[in-house]
Amino acid sequence: SGKPANDAILVIGLGRFGASTAENLIKLGREVMAVERNAEMVQEWSGRLTHVVEADATNIEALRQLGVQDFSTAVVGIGTSIEASVLSTANLVDLGIDQVWAKAISNSHGKILRRIGAEHVLFPESEAGARVAHLVSSQMLDYIEFDDGHFAVVKMRPPKEVQGFTLAESGIRDTYGVTVVGIKSPGRDFTYAEPSSRVGSQDVLIVAGHVELLGRFAGRP
Ligand code: ADP
Repeated sequence: SGKPANDAILVIGLGRFGASTAENLIKLGREVMAVERNAEMVQEWSGRLTHVVEADATNIEALRQLGVQDFSTAVVGIGTSIEASVLSTANLVDLGIDQVWAKAISNSHGKILRRIGAEHVLFPESEAGARVAHLVSSQMLDYIEFDDGHFAVVKMRPPKEVQGFTLAESGIRDTYGVTVVGIKSPGRDFTYAEPSSRVGSQDVLIVAGHVELLGRFAGRP
């Protein structure tokens, strides 16, 4: 059977992670159907999401009756119970949902989720930890990592040695191997960085590059 068009997104489990995902999807203008087995949580969230259903996602028949097979994207927010997470994810994959995003609480949990067919495995807690480590140990104000920690984009205060110079003058890319993408002066919006952009001491930079090189660049206050 062909895949019926359903733009709505299915969220399984309204714990902290699932609920925050669902809430932000609504803010982004998406319809959300949530499946949660705890009646109190269902009560708390009904009215705030498009559709909140009390059901056990480990029960494939229950999911089928809810029309879960019509969704093309689902997020599994169950973490604490690895068994429930794995069974629910397997059910979504078996029902033919293409894009299953599943939260893992450990590497082995993630390995199992991948093996049973989850297209995307998320590690929100270990990712947050890695991010916080970068933030507290350097001049970075924000940090997003790509490709297993090899490349990142960071928001940071400019190191002393580039303050007062244009990007061309300080030759940041040649000297540090990183690329300044955006620059923001106090009270202004971010603008794209140009060779002629002059870096003030109160500015904020958006810089992209390899994690090690960024660390070297941002480590110098
Ligand atoms: P978080 O750490 O993000 O709060 P939890 O694992 O604590 O994540 O929360 C998971 C949520 O998923 C809880 O609200 C729980 O009731 C719900 N949940 C757990 N198992 C199932 C299941 N089999 N079917 C539906 N919802 C479930």
